[in-house]
Amino acid sequence: MKKSASYLLVPFSAVLALCIGCGKPEPPPEPVSNEPPKPLVMVTEAGFPPYEYMENGEVVGVDIDICRAIADQLGRPLVVVSTNFEAIIPMLVQGDADIAAAGLTVTEERKELLDFSLSYATSGIVFISRKGEEYKDAASAKGKRIGVQTGTTSDQFCVEEVGVVPTRFDTPRQAAEALKAGKLDLIIVDIDPARNIAGNDDTLVISSELLCMEEFAIALKKGQPNLLASINGALESMLNGGKVYASLAKHVAHCAYDFKPASTPSEASAEAAKADGAAGAGETEKASE
Ligand code: GLN
Repeated sequence: MKKSASYLLVPFSAVLALCIGCGKPEPPPEPVSNEPPKPLVMVTEAGFPPYEYMENGEVVGVDIDICRAIADQLGRPLVVVSTNFEAIIPMLVQGDADIAAAGLTVTEERKELLDFSLSYATSGIVFISRKGEEYKDAASAKGKRIGVQTGTTSDQFCVEEVGVVPTRFDTPRQAAEALKAGKLDLIIVDIDPARNIAGNDDTLVISSELLCMEEFAIALKKGQPNLLASINGALESMLNGGKVYASLAKHVAHCAYDFKPASTPSEASAEAAKADGAAGAGETEKASE
């Protein structure tokens, strides 16, 4: 009996509350926004194939595929802005872009300024030099004329590990032109653009081992947990569905150079099980020894 009495009281008090409100004017309806969703602005530097490069006047690449999936999940159109590499981090910090995807390596210094998503690719940096003049490690490059792309981890490696102030360029391609013209002894660059630059060039050679290992992730201004969670959610489903690997393979084929896609972290184990000693995975292991 007790049970049914209290059961009856609940709807009664609810009805009472409704009646008390009956005499009051209706609150104005929530304004319905007809505005289109705010674009998701991605900043990159379109000289870093296969992650970002120009094709028919448009920026395309792995990073654009990933950011488009993130924008789709958010229901926002993607706007891609290409700028000089060293302008990317300031643009995010100032709020001039929402996210950066630019083969951007996660470093302790950058983590002080920005938040990073989970990693979607493993990479590393190498030397490119003229054939017959090969450099294998930081010590062998000491005192040489070195070119880098401004503000990259290669720039940092040159200063901190080799102990040389490099000649700085806007793109790795420009540094390679200076190398070919005899103005430099070597350049330091990420393995992916290195293969694009030197893979089909008989006059250049890429150092046989990675100088260090790096992880690529998407960066955003600090203090945006919801955006970070959406980015990570989209990335996770792309990685688990093999979509990042498929995008790499597609863009490498477009760029038409000798390249084996490096393993992404979550795809690495599946790949290693499939083909022990595949080129990308082999290098990854060597460099981490
Ligand atoms: N991975 C390197 C870095 O983050 C270079 C990236 C690039 O040139 N786009 O510094």
